[in-house]
Amino acid sequence: MKMLLSLYLIFAVILAQFFAAYFFSKGKSNYRRAFSAMVMCVSIYLFGFLMIINSNDLQEMIFWNQFQYLGLPFISVLWLLVAFLYTKATFPLKLRLEYVLFVVPVITFFVRLTNSWHHLFYTKWEVRQVFGYYFLNMERGFWYYVNITYTILCMLLTVIIYLAGYLKNKVAFTKSHFLIFLFASLLPLIGTVLVIFVFNERSIDYSALVIPISLLTIGYGILKHDFLEIRTLARETIFENNVAGMVVLGPGKRIIDYNRTAEKFFKSLDISLTNSPIEQLLGHETELLEIFKSDTNQDYSTVIDGEERFFEIDALQLGDSGDKSTKLLKSIRDVTEERRIQERLKYLATTDSLSGLNNRAQFMNLARKEFALAKMDNEALSILIMDVDNFKTINDTFGHAAGDEIIREIGNIIKTSFRKTDIPGRLGGEEFAVVLRNASLDEAEMVAEKVRNNIACRKVAYGKHVLSFTVSIGVAGVQDNRNDTSDLEDILKMADDALYKAKAKGRNCVVISRPEDI
Ligand code: GH3
Ligand code: MG
Ligand code: MG
Repeated sequence: MKMLLSLYLIFAVILAQFFAAYFFSKGKSNYRRAFSAMVMCVSIYLFGFLMIINSNDLQEMIFWNQFQYLGLPFISVLWLLVAFLYTKATFPLKLRLEYVLFVVPVITFFVRLTNSWHHLFYTKWEVRQVFGYYFLNMERGFWYYVNITYTILCMLLTVIIYLAGYLKNKVAFTKSHFLIFLFASLLPLIGTVLVIFVFNERSIDYSALVIPISLLTIGYGILKHDFLEIRTLARETIFENNVAGMVVLGPGKRIIDYNRTAEKFFKSLDISLTNSPIEQLLGHETELLEIFKSDTNQDYSTVIDGEERFFEIDALQLGDSGDKSTKLLKSIRDVTEERRIQERLKYLATTDSLSGLNNRAQFMNLARKEFALAKMDNEALSILIMDVDNFKTINDTFGHAAGDEIIREIGNIIKTSFRKTDIPGRLGGEEFAVVLRNASLDEAEMVAEKVRNNIACRKVAYGKHVLSFTVSIGVAGVQDNRNDTSDLEDILKMADDALYKAKAKGRNCVVISRPEDI
């Protein structure tokens, strides 16, 4: 029995020493330092207890009891202090009060030290034998009761603090945390109460037996709390180092916080961020000011170092939106690269790579829109369809690559021969089409003739060869758009028929599909 108890105490002392060293080395916050001191006192107390049960005479026992009191008086008050410091947000504690708490323990320390002069702490000593080992039994003096009452009060207050923390807190993680501390503080409180009422009969120090369990529990709780701190730290780090610029706006649209990227963003606009209202800061940048005042997501573009850059500025309400002091998180994301990729993808999806003109799908899309607009505004609209003459012969004679060169060249000619508002496209193979906005058939004929002539005059160098090529063009259109019932497909069909006629006429010519011809 004695052996078992000794082993238990040796384990507890080692554990306490470990905790003391660990939390002292990690003592970033006050409560951890207080915890470290408390565990140190516990280890002195437990070591004393270990030595007492292994002592053989009264003198030795008295010595180790005295040793115990180097730490014992301070345990409960430090335990309370840990609770105060840990929950300091809930119970603000003035620094001076912390010192007042130590008055009774310090007196106890000296009273016990000088007991042989006045016997205020213990009035009588004797040795008792319980379960085969010796226990020191003492008659308690006046100050002993003062001390133990104070101890119980401290522990009771500790329990109340943790209980209040547990009841007040709504976050499950923190709640469970308070429960751990509550449990760890209840054990020594019960132990101490037992010491007063049952000690005489059994001479067993119940506190000493339960304290190691409390220590383990509380150490576990603090380590868990470390993770809580790591979590907060992680959130701060993510905010500070986010690739998105972040600005937190408080009541009155005053800047409360911002991260590095936000600082860089504003710096590139020659604005240095301060904790001023946003109006003051962005007085000259009216567009940006409106965006920052608004609580919706918006796009913003500006020229930085001679290059246009695009930003998405999102707004996220922090807290209850009904609250007048609502805080707003504005996040600024540089989406220039994304936009460029999007534009590139759009270009690839809508452009024919060989001629550089709209591909068939895009041409039809735009032509349909243009046709609808012309109908709405009752504007004339003409369409040209052109096809390279004897293209198969060119391919067969000079090769497919030579044919490609010609398609490329025709693309260039078309690009430079029409107005910006006209819509050109490659329909497929060596066939091209152009929608001419607000152009009568006569005007379209003139343009078609000019393009046909341009193409016929153009030469393409291909290896040793100089290639000439011609196109045939069919033209159709609507004049009185409002009263015309034909749709886009009808006009394209008419232009195609005219093209067929041009081929039949001997190629390298323009044929107009006129309503009176039908
Ligand atoms: P026509 O004057 O009657 O139009 O005679 P054509 O030889 O131009 O007519 P046809 O439709 O018989 O020939 C078109 C040829 O164009 C057939 C096809 O191999 C070729 N072709 C289609 N697309 C391409 C292309 O992208 N590159 C090249 N090099 N040739 C193509
Ligand atoms: Mg052809
Ligand atoms: Mg063809």
